[in-house]
Amino acid sequence: MTEEHCTEQSPGKRWTPDPASPLPLHRQISNYLMDKISSGAWPPGMRLAPQRELCRQFGVNRSTVVTALGQLSALGLIEGRRGGGTRVAEVRASADEAVSSDAARTDLLPVPSARSWNAYVEEGVHYPNLPTVQDINRLEYEGLIRLGTGEPAPELLPGPAMTRVLAELSRQPLPPLSYEEPLGSPGLRRAVSRELAKNGIQADPDSILITSGALQGLQLIAVGLLPRGSTILLEKPSYLYSIHAFQSAGVKFSGLPMDEQGLLLDGLAREARRSKAAMLYSIPSFHNPTGVLMDAKRRQALMEVTGQLGLPILEDGAYQELWLDTPPPPPLKALDREGRVLHLGTLSKAASPGLRIGWIVGPEPVVRRLADIKMQTDYGASSLSQLAAARWLEGGYHEEHLQHLRARLRKRRDAVLDLLQHHFNGLAAWNVPAGGFYIWLSLDKPVPLRTLFCTAHKAGLLLNTGDLYDRGDNRHLRLSYVYASPAELELGLPLLAALIRKLQQPGV
Ligand code: PMP
Repeated sequence: MTEEHCTEQSPGKRWTPDPASPLPLHRQISNYLMDKISSGAWPPGMRLAPQRELCRQFGVNRSTVVTALGQLSALGLIEGRRGGGTRVAEVRASADEAVSSDAARTDLLPVPSARSWNAYVEEGVHYPNLPTVQDINRLEYEGLIRLGTGEPAPELLPGPAMTRVLAELSRQPLPPLSYEEPLGSPGLRRAVSRELAKNGIQADPDSILITSGALQGLQLIAVGLLPRGSTILLEKPSYLYSIHAFQSAGVKFSGLPMDEQGLLLDGLAREARRSKAAMLYSIPSFHNPTGVLMDAKRRQALMEVTGQLGLPILEDGAYQELWLDTPPPPPLKALDREGRVLHLGTLSKAASPGLRIGWIVGPEPVVRRLADIKMQTDYGASSLSQLAAARWLEGGYHEEHLQHLRARLRKRRDAVLDLLQHHFNGLAAWNVPAGGFYIWLSLDKPVPLRTLFCTAHKAGLLLNTGDLYDRGDNRHLRLSYVYASPAELELGLPLLAALIRKLQQPGV
């Protein structure tokens, strides 16, 4: 747990003391905490949640928590540090000392550890998530109104249709229990190939690698194709700033501005030369987080400029099938005659984020290289998920679901736009997305976004603030109309407007 968190991690979130137990509440709590420490689940140096947070989690008053912590402190199991909160003790009281003060718990006393896990936790090559992203990942399960979530609400996912698919599959003679081949199941690659053809992308199954979601595609490309120290160009803001796949592989970012037609090309060639860019990453259709759709003219121009530079493109098509008004222009990959574009797709955004099925389309040597790394990473996406995904696509379920989903998203988008009109007039500006999940709310005046995130959390709202997608941002929020229910949005958006107004008052 780092100091920056505005919400503390729950220590064994589900456990609470039993009021009916003969053991006093403080005793139950100190026993619980001792178990965490003695088992090593909470290693030396780990910071405990603040007292008020522990009170909330255990459903007890302050004095109960203070008594429990006092017992642990007397045993030398925890220690207070000025400005550093309470931590699990680095040097523990000897067993003898502790036994004499707590004979009942001798079995639970820890063995002093040679080296703190904290050092290891801080030394791994992969960067941690941003504190706000860590908060979001945890708080998504805590019943808040999720105003920025990038996955469809469970009621928008195709549960009944997927149940039919699984029932069909259960009638097959045997389930696929083995590993699949390095590029992924041939049946699914054929199905993806047919799906891509509908968007003008000609890719035979040998040019397709099945991944565990598009996110793994990004990871594989970061570690498999780009040398450490290289630079990629990308839109700023971008989804890619909110994960650390590329930075952890030593890849640097150079962000380029956007307008309503997508990535601006004016400075692209200059910046590509200056930074010796290795690749350009773009989300041309219903960009995350801005919702912007790159128009056909810009796509053509982008292909020309990057063609002259010989610059490879990584096109992220995660949202491209989720158009609401009219289909988007053909993907960049459909304009590619040189094999210069790698294209990412996923089933996460429309059908099922939990299935963990995505794909990379690219020249055969590239997808084989990435498949080789994937084999060293996880031996392939789940064979059962791949089978279900193939049937889902082949059986026409996907197309049918998309039509249904588009109609429902259109309604939700329009309802949110109405709410914004009512509650954010004079406070912010926003785009009208033609597809995807997001509205990029642009506040007229800056606000401290981390403070807004924490205040909103206390008021029951979960936000995706603009600084996740552009570190320097202090005036945007990514709003999403796909997760919170219409009733929650009606409640949550006016509340959000009030919180922003309050934070913008002078002197706050
Ligand atoms: N690309 C973009 C632009 C996304 O928004 C996301 C999900 N937030 C992903 C890739 C990864 O999605 P998944 O791994 O679930 O396919």
